[in-house]
Amino acid sequence: MTVSVIQETLNPYEIAQQQVDAAAALLNLPEHITNVLKRPMRVLTVNFPVKMDDGSVRVFEGYRSQHNDAIGPTKGGIRFHPDVTLDEVKALSMWMSFKCGVVGLPYGGGKGGVICNPREHSKGELERISRGFMEAIASFVGPQKDIPAPDVYTNAQTMGWMMDTYSKLAGVNSPGVITGKPIILGGSKGRNEATAQGCVYTILAALEDMGKTPAEATVAIQGFGNAGRIAARLLEEAGCKVVAVSDSKGGIYDPNGLDLAKVGELKDNASILDYGEQYHISNEKLLELDVTVLVPAALENVITAANASAIKAAIVAEAANGPTTPEADRVLTEKGIVVIPDVLANAGGVTVSYFEWVQNLMNYYWSEQEVLEKLEVNMINSYKAVRDLAKEYNVNLRKAAYMIAIKRISAAMEARGWV
Ligand code: GLU
Repeated sequence: MTVSVIQETLNPYEIAQQQVDAAAALLNLPEHITNVLKRPMRVLTVNFPVKMDDGSVRVFEGYRSQHNDAIGPTKGGIRFHPDVTLDEVKALSMWMSFKCGVVGLPYGGGKGGVICNPREHSKGELERISRGFMEAIASFVGPQKDIPAPDVYTNAQTMGWMMDTYSKLAGVNSPGVITGKPIILGGSKGRNEATAQGCVYTILAALEDMGKTPAEATVAIQGFGNAGRIAARLLEEAGCKVVAVSDSKGGIYDPNGLDLAKVGELKDNASILDYGEQYHISNEKLLELDVTVLVPAALENVITAANASAIKAAIVAEAANGPTTPEADRVLTEKGIVVIPDVLANAGGVTVSYFEWVQNLMNYYWSEQEVLEKLEVNMINSYKAVRDLAKEYNVNLRKAAYMIAIKRISAAMEARGWV
């Protein structure tokens, strides 16, 4: 018997380009427009020295990619991870453009990354890495230019240090240069939960479209960081049964439902694996569980040609950026699985970042209720627009989302006279 192995690229930049091509074909976009969209307009590479606690000096490499600023300043997070690459950051900046386009924010896409392993550094070292990176990119970013935010392994504290460094260099307090800040420094209420919250709104809407109540839904979540952990709590609050979660060390599964308070406590003080050996499950097996909703909430390329045919969930909600390869996407669509694509499913984060930026610019702050109401309206309207276009063109939700976003960006480029 011959086993055919599907060759597919796992390079996120090539994947993002393939996704643009697919949507551009449906829109009959002229090639010169597609060519602009397939590349970031500006990319900066920096190498900056940082003093370590032991007195040594290490040089860190970081990137900031600005994909397209036709609609407005570029926007997107900064990740700290040992596996960060320039191609990954470029792809992530493209995905930010499409994300902002789908939910109608007045931004283009940007992204940054620093090659480092936050687990190996003290708080002092992390502060110096954060400030060093901001100093290195300061002339490239700005409240009307390019506005960073948290991403994988960065958080409100990281944003606070970076905002302070930028403000000192600018000579004026500049909260609008970065979002996801601590509330005391101009952060928005609801921002910390926003990515998960937005994702949950789309999951509940998709369940409703399937005629299922939250109480009938079981959930598996891969990744227990800002997005996955909070999504687990919010889905439970909505009435779903969370049966499996995992982090980079492995997962736990209980078909009767997990005690999430206990899981959270273990995550903070030990490891979620201490939940009990009888509950252990690998990240690979977790993805293949027979659940209603699967939420990949960690990194790219976890659903690929190698495992897509084994996915059994009815809904895959991409809280992570780029968790599904194009080949896997095709297989999931063929199987009738509803994939809520990253550019829609995790757009709640940047949506509340936008609200934070608006509040910073007007120096007037909203209640959490106000933020959540605005977020829900925007997420549900965006979901419905994507769903309806997908029906009209008989394509999956990802293609429809890209079509909406690309149409907007192209119209802005045309109106500016660029293309
Ligand atoms: N890093 C988040 C994302 O990938 C948030 C970006 C932002 O708030 O600007 O969407």
